[in-house]
Amino acid sequence: MRIDIATLFPDMCEAVMGESIIGRARKKGAITVECHNIRDYTLSKQKRVDDAPYGGGMGMVMQADPIDRCYSAVCEKAGSTPHVIYLSPQGQKLTQQKAVELSKLPHLFLLCGHYEGVDERVLDKLVDEEISIGDFVLTGGELPALMLADCVARLCDGVLSDPECFELESHYNGLLEYPQYSRPEVWDGRRVPEILLTGHHANIERWRREQSLIRTLQKRPDMLETAELTPQDRKFLEEFRHKPE
Ligand code: SAM
Repeated sequence: MRIDIATLFPDMCEAVMGESIIGRARKKGAITVECHNIRDYTLSKQKRVDDAPYGGGMGMVMQADPIDRCYSAVCEKAGSTPHVIYLSPQGQKLTQQKAVELSKLPHLFLLCGHYEGVDERVLDKLVDEEISIGDFVLTGGELPALMLADCVARLCDGVLSDPECFELESHYNGLLEYPQYSRPEVWDGRRVPEILLTGHHANIERWRREQSLIRTLQKRPDMLETAELTPQDRKFLEEFRHKPE
């Protein structure tokens, strides 16, 4: 997987993408991430990348040409045509399902807007889809692009030690994850649930599944409408719902 991030603030993106799991995955070559400064692609002597909106109004608009030139340079360097995503509050909301879909593509180009946004013409020309990280407005697309790059990259082969690391996590299978515990066995007078100390894998697995179902019911009941549930899950939920407090 190759991810190119086109931004006016490449250092901000590089700082995040250079750390921790993603940073290590880049170093060992499991993924390629490159951050590009759109300003490097302007033909303006003053290095301008934005101008006032036609028709008047507040703020500045990112100009089409530097973005288009940045995109062409990336295609040439990578030798491939990426799937282009514009991070935008007007896009479809990012979900785990979307991240799984994107992780199967070989090359992504993430365009970060700033100011009032981006000249519509370059969006029309290049963008395959717009993705939002939620119904609120940020100053720029960098944080959304980093979030998207992070959640897509961790699904790619060789980034995490084992696919099980993400397959059991919240949202992957339509449920929230069970609670996690680590040493010590007793902390602040609170014990780790006894079942986790038994070493009985089948019972632990069933307990985790049930905890997952309870958490989803309590925190995100809407998710149960679409989650894939076994008859045993449904029976458990039914009994749990009718259990006296
Ligand atoms: N004027 C635009 C509008 O009303 O739709 C908002 C522009 S916003 C201030 C600047 C940039 O931040 C956008 O071009 C986009 O790249 C990014 N951005 C802001 N909020 C976002 C969100 N919720 N999800 C994804 N990107 C966002």
